[in-house]
Amino acid sequence: MKKLKMYLLAVSLCFVMGCSTIANIGNNLNMFTIEDDRALGYQTLTSIRGDKANYPILDTVRYAAAYTQIRTLFNRLINVGLTYRDAFNWNLYIIDQDDVLNAFAIPGGTVFIYTGLINYLDNESQLAGVLAHEISHIEMRHMTRQLTKQYGVDFLTSLIAAHTGSGIVQGLSGVANSLAQLHFSRNDEYEADATGTLIMAATGYYDPYQAAGFFQKMMQDNTSGATVELLSTHPLDAHRIAAIQKNCENMGAKPFTEAQLSSQVASLNSLKQKLRKR
Ligand SMILES: [Zn+2]
Repeated sequence: MKKLKMYLLAVSLCFVMGCSTIANIGNNLNMFTIEDDRALGYQTLTSIRGDKANYPILDTVRYAAAYTQIRTLFNRLINVGLTYRDAFNWNLYIIDQDDVLNAFAIPGGTVFIYTGLINYLDNESQLAGVLAHEISHIEMRHMTRQLTKQYGVDFLTSLIAAHTGSGIVQGLSGVANSLAQLHFSRNDEYEADATGTLIMAATGYYDPYQAAGFFQKMMQDNTSGATVELLSTHPLDAHRIAAIQKNCENMGAKPFTEAQLSSQVASLNSLKQKLRKR
């Protein structure tokens, strides 16, 4: 746990010191409170659960075995000393759409991953890479940081003044519906990649290099229509892959051996079996 905090500190320092302009501090400004993140997350989760046509959540009872396996993985990732481990309500849902290669996060702790993406991945470390990246967006509070940027400080300040006591969220009607489709800045993506690899390594279970391995696979398949949706919310380039590998080297991580990776392949295959239609 201590180890991760140190890593996180190093990462945030590197971001602060790397871009020491006031503009960058402005970009990272977040006018929302932790309570706002929780409230927005609750509203968004309610609206997603009510929209079965667009978000057909895989039945948690019928597919209990699959949920147990993927939530065990998810719990390993969130139990490495996150700042908001106890303040947020962490949870994971699978969306039953085999043709969608995507995952997304909403504020306050909930991650969604599509069956299409789980089936597309090669091993459990790649799955951990995707989930650790989404967890990092939540932990860094990128959604409300992005909303601060979109609405602007002046507007949000007037909202807070107009809704004293009830919080900023009350004044932003309808915002919850758009949160699932939120696009992050390039800087936020790099930050989530960096934090995600630290989280993966801190579990002691997963190979952080596989976060890059997954992106390499995506790039090779870039021409296929199925990858387009993921790439639209997670822009990809060779530099991003190199940055992930550099993060892994900087923290002294060693790529897994073939034997270690083959057990990660087997465990992901077992999850895919549990997702078979019944
Ligand atoms: Zn992202």
